[in-house]
Order: sequence, then C-alpha cells, then structure tokens
Amino acid sequence: MPFMTDEAAGRLATRSDAPVLAVDIGGTKLAAGLVAADGQVLVSDRALTTLGPDDDGDAIWERLHALCERVLDAVGRPAIQGVGVGCSGPMRWPEGAVSPVNLPAWRDFPLRQRLIEAYPGVPVRVHNDAVAVVVAENWRGAGEGVSNMLGMVVSTGVGGGLILGGRLIDGASGNAGHVGHMVADPNGPPCGCGGIGCVEAIARGPELAAWARAQGWRSEVTEAATTKELAEDARAGDKIALQAFERAGWALGVGIASSIALCDVGLIVVGGGVSQVGDLLFEPLERHLRTYARMGFTQNARVVRATLDQNAGLVGASAFILAGDRYWSAD
Ligand SMILES: [Zn+2]
Repeated sequence: MPFMTDEAAGRLATRSDAPVLAVDIGGTKLAAGLVAADGQVLVSDRALTTLGPDDDGDAIWERLHALCERVLDAVGRPAIQGVGVGCSGPMRWPEGAVSPVNLPAWRDFPLRQRLIEAYPGVPVRVHNDAVAVVVAENWRGAGEGVSNMLGMVVSTGVGGGLILGGRLIDGASGNAGHVGHMVADPNGPPCGCGGIGCVEAIARGPELAAWARAQGWRSEVTEAATTKELAEDARAGDKIALQAFERAGWALGVGIASSIALCDVGLIVVGGGVSQVGDLLFEPLERHLRTYARMGFTQNARVVRATLDQNAGLVGASAFILAGDRYWSAD
C-alpha cells in the first residue's frame, strides 16, 4: 500500500486520500493549488498569465508548469491522484486543446497533453473555467446536496454550467450550460460571439459601464469607470447607474426564466465579480424572473449568491478528479 506524507494536513494518508493538483487558467491570472480529498485547498499560488505581447504559447506553458512545480515543492512533493483544470474557453473537449478568447497566444494549444507528459500516470482532466466554478458550488458551496441546479458566473463575460440528476451535463461537445449566450433580446446589442442580444452582451461587467457611459454617466471622466464605481453611484441614487443594473438584472432574469422552463432546475447559483454588488443586481433579477417564470413548477426555483471565495475555480477543478463520478463523463 503506497503511503505519502501529507505535510499540509499533518498526517499520513493513503493514496486514495492523496491531494489533486488543481489549476485555474484565465486571461489575466494563472492559479494552481493542491486540494485535499475533502475539497480543502492545502496550498495555492498565483502568477500572471502573460508578461507582455511577446509571450508565446510555450512561454505561458512554462510559467504555468513552474507554478505547478512551486505548489508541489511547497508541501514536499506528495503523490497526487490527478490533475484537474479549469481553463477559459473555448476548447476542444475532452481533448483539452484550448483557445481562450482572452489569450491569443494559445490557439488549439494542447494543454491536456502537456500536463499528461508533465504528470504521467495520473488522470488529467480539463474543462471550462466557468463550469469548474459551478461544479465547486455544487460540490462544496451554495448548491451542495442540490441535484438540479443552474450556475452562472457574471463577470467580464457570463459563463455557467448545468447540473441535472446530480451530474454535470456536458452536451455533445462539452459546451452545455453556456448560459451567457442564451438570447435575452433578439433585437438587442451584438455579442462578442457573433450573435445578437445574448445575456452576456447585456449583463457582462464591461457592458454595464459602457452602456451607462453611452447614456451620459460620468461622461466628463476620460478613463474607463468600473462596475464598482457604477455600483457606488447607483447606491447614491444615480438614475443611469440604477438603470444599468436594472437592464442587466432583466437580461439575467429572462435567461434564467427560460432555463427553468427548459431544465426544471430548483436552484440558480449566481457568482462572479458583478454579482458582488448584491441587491443592486439581484433585486431586478428576481423581479424580472418572477414576471417571466409563471408556470407552477418554475415559481419554486430559488436564486442564491455563490458562497465560495476566489478558490472556487481550484476546488471545482479538483472535483473533476475527486468527484469524477458526478462531474466528469469523458473517459
Ligand atoms: Zn453571444
């Protein structure tokens, strides 16, 4: 029976109790951590994804690999039972060849293959970063114990994931639960995906401030103002700022109402940076949701805020290994 010294937990652990190397890759930051079998993050570290426009795909990979090695070294290089990864999309799944929109140096980059070569002998599983956050909320957060749940991450973009019958739903290409690109307004603004009036086109953080500025909010300020400043002004009673959150809440409420009708989810967990404004977003969201969701079964669905912190991406990535029977269907 192989044993390892689990220094971070201060105990001997069997291999089935071994931690998972978890990785979270975004356009701005890389994060890596060791996550124990119970979902606790034992150690984590972060690095910038790119150091400049000259960074090529291999340079970013080498930075990521060094970060993973640093995390392993920090706790005496224990045996790991797998590598779980959440990465910005899109990607070819389950191959894990990634092309993050906000990371142009990686186009069809063979991330999963590189990790398999770096950490041989253990499973390596790569999925969308928003899916990882939703999995974390279902496994150890606001949706723990809930079998039918929609998760949304409202941030620079709007991502999400779908849990039905207690399992993550992947769809034909691993892209099920792309809630940001449900159409909320067929006559709405263009979306970065090429579509029109997607939830993301209306409710993504940068769009809130951009829309408000187009209506005259802080038009005298030259530098781009953020969601945080927009929220401060809304709380102070600024009508345009309030309308910006009303509009975002409306788009989210419309999308959620359609999702409930389609999937019969009992819980919707909403996280991400924009969700941290709290009632400014959730009050109009809830009000518009109740306007559109009228059938009896849809009225019982609850909307709650995500409860995990910035480690949610790592916890979810680890769950692709640690709770693979529920969250990984591909191998
Ligand atoms: Zn779209």
